[in-house]
Amino acid sequence: MSKNYIVGFPRIGEQRELKKVLESFWAKKVPFKEVQKVASELKKRHWMYQKNAGIDYISSNDFSLYDNMLDTAILLGAIPKRFEDLRDEELYFAMARGDKTHTAMEMTKWFNTNYHYIVPELSLDDSFKANAKKITDEYLEAKELGIKTKINLIGPLTFLGLSKRDDGGDAYELFGKILPAYEEVIKEIGKLDNDITLQIDEPIFVKDLDTKVLSLIKTTYDRLSNASPHVKIVVSTYFEHSNEATKILTNTPIWGLGLDFVHGKENLQSLPYIRKSGKKLIAGVVDGRNIWKNDFEKTLNLLNEINSTVDTQNILVSSSCSLLHTPFTLKYEEKMDGEIKNWLSYAAEKLDEISLISKLFFYGHNSLDEKMREYVKKNKEANESRKKSSRIHDKTTQNRVKNLAKFKRDGEFKERIKIQRELLGYKDLATTTIGSFPQTSEIRVARREYKNNLISKDAYVNAMKNYIDECVTFQDEIGLEVLVHGEPERNDMVEYFGEQLSGYGFSQNGWVQSYGSRCVKPPFIYGDISRPKPMTTEWITYAQSKTDKIMKGMLTGPVTILNWSFVRDDKPRDEVAKEIAVALSDEVNDLQNAGIKIIQVDEAAFKEGYPLRESKIPTYEKWAVENFKICVSTARLETQIHTHMCYSEFNDIIKTIEAMDADVITIETARSGNELLKIFKKVGYKQEVGPGVYDIHSPRVPSVEEMVKQIELLLEVLPKEQLWINPDCGLKTRKWEEVKPSLKNMVKAVKIVRENI
Ligand code: GLN
Ligand code: ZN
Repeated sequence: MSKNYIVGFPRIGEQRELKKVLESFWAKKVPFKEVQKVASELKKRHWMYQKNAGIDYISSNDFSLYDNMLDTAILLGAIPKRFEDLRDEELYFAMARGDKTHTAMEMTKWFNTNYHYIVPELSLDDSFKANAKKITDEYLEAKELGIKTKINLIGPLTFLGLSKRDDGGDAYELFGKILPAYEEVIKEIGKLDNDITLQIDEPIFVKDLDTKVLSLIKTTYDRLSNASPHVKIVVSTYFEHSNEATKILTNTPIWGLGLDFVHGKENLQSLPYIRKSGKKLIAGVVDGRNIWKNDFEKTLNLLNEINSTVDTQNILVSSSCSLLHTPFTLKYEEKMDGEIKNWLSYAAEKLDEISLISKLFFYGHNSLDEKMREYVKKNKEANESRKKSSRIHDKTTQNRVKNLAKFKRDGEFKERIKIQRELLGYKDLATTTIGSFPQTSEIRVARREYKNNLISKDAYVNAMKNYIDECVTFQDEIGLEVLVHGEPERNDMVEYFGEQLSGYGFSQNGWVQSYGSRCVKPPFIYGDISRPKPMTTEWITYAQSKTDKIMKGMLTGPVTILNWSFVRDDKPRDEVAKEIAVALSDEVNDLQNAGIKIIQVDEAAFKEGYPLRESKIPTYEKWAVENFKICVSTARLETQIHTHMCYSEFNDIIKTIEAMDADVITIETARSGNELLKIFKKVGYKQEVGPGVYDIHSPRVPSVEEMVKQIELLLEVLPKEQLWINPDCGLKTRKWEEVKPSLKNMVKAVKIVRENI
């Protein structure tokens, strides 16, 4: 009998093969056939990995050339009208990325992960028509290799919930049209074999659902279960509990439920319903979103707890979600420290873990052969070594965090800003930038060569200083008022700090798909965090020495550092964030002691960390704000603290943003005029704000007139005393040819507006 199950497997390839071939195809260097060839090889390899590991339920249709939501839109024929003239791969990639004459579809984050999906665009007069070819082809492709897969499909309620309607209306109004298309798909699937398992992903069920969506669940799964007698349906949710939906689903004819017991412990409350219904429980007990070796003992305890309610023969042991969110394999981590590597487990290793855990759970230790016993023993040793290792436990950090006395900086904003404005002497509508300047190939090469020991430290430092010189001279010349050093030494705003903090590890090949062909390689926090020495002061003070104007120091905030890393699972996230905050508070202090008068603490990922369930938001907000405040708690009254966030929607969180108590916040409202700024006025926000007067995501150079208008729009909402003028994000992805005229125009625009007032 089948006992274990994988929700989905990553597809980009362990050497990023898919990325490479896609990018070559887009650059017109290889034909589409080549992409298809690589795709088949990857699918085959990934299926074989799972088969060889002893996985019973292996997925098909978890593969995608770009994104599964996009695939689902195509499957249902939900293709926006502007793509009417296109077919096949041209259509597919134009929807994903746009081309000369077609604007791409929007892309956004998949729940609380760093994976981005393509947002389907629906129209009330759309008619949907199923085309299940991709699904059936993939199923047959695996079958030919002797693997009978379960089929993965994004469910109708999640599909609609994540879609947008062209007229701004509610996408669920299309429910009546979309459900028949799904029934069609299931009928097609039913023709493939006599007995097929279909995993329908409904992660939307882990959010707080309104009654309208809840009321659709029963109809949906009554009907889909009856669409074909050959298809058994598993409804799969992940990243949180889905108790409300689970209760309803147990009253439909579906075959099984996939639940995440790692990120949604509350799912345990649903067990009595599942037991009563006699449905299969696909128990997600191995974390699909992290890189730590599973602790078999703990997992077996969890399974036993589940088993105390649900019958053994109805349980399948599974990953908590698709392994898409973890890197592929430790095989290529040749440079990683052996002790640390021994604590990790990527997707391929998780397959072995799941296979073994299910053997242990169902058949006990005695059923294992010698090799497996050795594996179990090693797992235990690794977990014990991790618990005890001196690499992880740092008494000094622990004591500092425990005995922390200062949680916020001195003085209230009103008092601080008076002192700051007197001392810093900046005008109303002060001009600045967000931190980074264009990352040229010269500085990239210099960084890389230094890292690989190909150039000396002196040569590297000189290259960086030359860049800083140019950057400062340029800003000085065009009359910007608060300058930055340009961040040439930073490869990435988290990695740069991670590399200098103890307790942080880096992988060579730990790539995770972020969107399309893009991958990120998040650093990982394995131990208590401390800062052996200052991380930024040398560069910032060097830059300050080159100008009489104010040089703004630049740090990444604790919440962002945390949210963009794999975080240790043996300590609560808020405590890890606190350790980072304490380390950064030392950096703030060092900077101000070195004469830096303004320090910006970027919290680009502050909003991303928000929990999926509303009831959990206050707790997150509390510790996220607290840790930001700890980080700047060392700032004296006269040291001005800026923060930057890459968002524009603050309506829901404005009070929280205010509570962070930064003296100045720069945000990303350039694309929305002054609309999104109004909330600042509405709540009587007191601190200063730099809303961003032009969009840095586009190569276009905005004109002076345009920015004058933009600034005037801002002035309709907030008084000049409260406003800063800046681009809406860092400039690292832009070219100098774009940045130079844009900033010149920005400064000119401010001059004109100041004269007009
Ligand atoms: N200081 C960073 C930069 O300018 C901020 C970037 C960000 O928040 N995404 O690049
Ligand atoms: Zn930004």
